[in-house]
Amino acid sequence: MTPFAYDRAGSSADAIRLAQATAATHYLGGGTNLVDLMREGVATPDRLVDVTGLSAAIEPTPDGLRIDAAVRNTALASDPRVRRDYPLLARAIVAGASAQIRNMATVGGNLLQRTRCAYFYDDAAACNKRVPGAGCDAVDGFNRIHAILGASPACVATHPSDMAVAMAALNAVVTIDGPDGSRDVPLTDFHRLPGGTPEIETVLARGELITAVTLPPLGFGARSTYRKVRDRASYAFALVSVAAAVDVQGGTVADVRLALGGVAHKPWRAFAAEAALRGQPATAASFRAAAEAELADAVPLRDNGFKIELAKRTIVAVLEELTGEAA
Ligand code: SF4
Repeated sequence: MTPFAYDRAGSSADAIRLAQATAATHYLGGGTNLVDLMREGVATPDRLVDVTGLSAAIEPTPDGLRIDAAVRNTALASDPRVRRDYPLLARAIVAGASAQIRNMATVGGNLLQRTRCAYFYDDAAACNKRVPGAGCDAVDGFNRIHAILGASPACVATHPSDMAVAMAALNAVVTIDGPDGSRDVPLTDFHRLPGGTPEIETVLARGELITAVTLPPLGFGARSTYRKVRDRASYAFALVSVAAAVDVQGGTVADVRLALGGVAHKPWRAFAAEAALRGQPATAASFRAAAEAELADAVPLRDNGFKIELAKRTIVAVLEELTGEAA
């Protein structure tokens, strides 16, 4: 592991000041991904600024439930307000990792975890995300877990977070503090698609720090869930996941939120499916039509064509579960 300096921040302003010291400074949350990346030589920070001592509150605000970035995943998933009003989020977090990892991982760190593309972690492989311009061994390699939506010839990786998929469905807002002040970014705009610069994964500028995520109120949030389809029942990343909330009035879909995981470089908000569903009867046929609309532009790689049908079927199954509609 490359030697690095370590500082522990006492406030977000302190953290941002400390992070100005070098261009290769990283913020450190629970370290459940970053430390692995450092051990593998994929991440080589020369300074870590530990932000786990910052505020870790979960508080109601006029804009919704504000979750500080240092809140541990376990605390968020077990919060009674989250379990009551946003059960899809609690389920996504529990599905995301082992209890030990959830106890360490923070909300901010979860949003910033890196892809689990095996070529990214293998310094003998070509990877544009690790070494810009090097090429991408996944495009013609073993790409079973890779993206079917929004990918580019430069990178076909997927984002690994379950929590972020649920937050995308909830219209969460990310608060970012930095050297030039504070700003709010919708979570659906926080992560980037790869384009020609897959090494740039978020809209964060140098030195900026995630300080909170706010969940706006969602009147039908109690009727929501998260389903993760994976190769084994635990400790595996999603092949496909679906976060959904639905409001059915008189047999018609009045409103719906849908987001997909395991299919793209970012949590994938299923706007096309949502538009196709609103105002339609809450039937299996409507659910299937919405799923078809969302996956219409999916592009399979050599090994992951199954994900397209898997995503469609999982969308339908989740909506059937939430509405009581049988296929
Ligand atoms: Fe690297 Fe992305 Fe290609 Fe994986 S898919 S090897 S992360 S460039």
